[in-house]
Amino acid sequence: RRGMEEEKMDENEWGYHGEGNKSLVVAHAQRCVVLRFLKFPPNRKKTSEEILQHLQDIVDFGKNVMKEFFGENCVHCGEVVQLPLEFVKQLCLKIQSERPESRCDKDLDTLSGYAMCLPNLTRLQTYCIAEHRPILCVEIKPKCGFIPFSSSVTHEMKHKVCRYCMHQHLKVATGKWKQISEYCPLDLFSGNKQRMHFALKSLLQESQNNLKIFKVQMLDLLDIEGLYPLYNRVEQYLEEFPEERKMLQIDGPYDEAFYQKLLDLSTEDDGSVAFALTKNVLAQYDYVQQYRVAMTAKDCSIMIALSPCLQDASSDRRLVVPSSRSRLAFSVSVLDLDLKPYESIPHQYKLDAKIVNYYAKTVHAKD
Ligand code: ATP
Ligand code: MG
Ligand code: MG
Repeated sequence: RRGMEEEKMDENEWGYHGEGNKSLVVAHAQRCVVLRFLKFPPNRKKTSEEILQHLQDIVDFGKNVMKEFFGENCVHCGEVVQLPLEFVKQLCLKIQSERPESRCDKDLDTLSGYAMCLPNLTRLQTYCIAEHRPILCVEIKPKCGFIPFSSSVTHEMKHKVCRYCMHQHLKVATGKWKQISEYCPLDLFSGNKQRMHFALKSLLQESQNNLKIFKVQMLDLLDIEGLYPLYNRVEQYLEEFPEERKMLQIDGPYDEAFYQKLLDLSTEDDGSVAFALTKNVLAQYDYVQQYRVAMTAKDCSIMIALSPCLQDASSDRRLVVPSSRSRLAFSVSVLDLDLKPYESIPHQYKLDAKIVNYYAKTVHAKD
């Protein structure tokens, strides 16, 4: 963990950049870095130690698990930094008016002084120091690009219509969005040029990068319907043996051993009594952890930065997209790779049923 020096931190050099459901990001005006703060509901105060641990877990998970899946180059784990509290307080006041109202149900954590420092992925990393050329950056949150093939699926509809498309209807009905979008992740991941083009309109020409994501997503072998009973069994087991929680690495550490467990469902039998007892639960638990990683991949963003480059400027041809009119330098990164919490599985199970039932009842009935 690095401390950012007192005299160097000036809130005026940072500006509001964006936020999601769990974190808020500010960007440095000149340098190519961002700070990513955690957000919480107003009355849910966490201790500084808990926040530090949570941030460290995010970094470890990125390093040891997601980097392995996506490759070294497009995952940037960043580092945890400690900031002067006065700086964070002033920064929070400064950006408050720029935050969208719909996101203000949660507050920026200003008490711990901890945040993540990451490269600003909307810029081209190669031009970090001085940027003079315009940059176009596209961020895509593709969501789940396959139809579940698990035999645990009980709703026939889930084998026919993709989750994203069904969810659209519920979101419009509950007022979250005004109208249904025509985007379908199955188009984006189809590999069919016309369909992909339709999904992206004309902005994206890079298809291979998306295929990789389609692969990590597939760790969800069982679908939430097959997964939920396994989750319940693991829960039951943990109630009986609460001390096992740590051993199973549910809440981290997300180290190399954690990644190895994900890859290897047939855990080695060491012949011990303890193993015989836990074997069954362990196998089920592996599915639970794989599911959480798949959920993370379904919720991440892909960031693509494009900038026209001078004729001879780039020596590395791999980084240049040839297009009809000009040559573009580009960088592709995957972000928002926080592991989904173990506790969110019951919520996912209920939401899944809600989406499918709503779709079957209203939309499908009409057709
Ligand atoms: P979600 O609700 O999707 O889980 P989140 O709360 O986890 O979101 P992020 O997606 O990590 O938050 O960050 C919010 C937004 O900030 C992103 O959608 C992206 O536009 C921007 N952002 C995050 N990290 C970076 C980065 N390293 N460089 C540039 N922009 C970033
Ligand atoms: Mg996000
Ligand atoms: Mg997130």
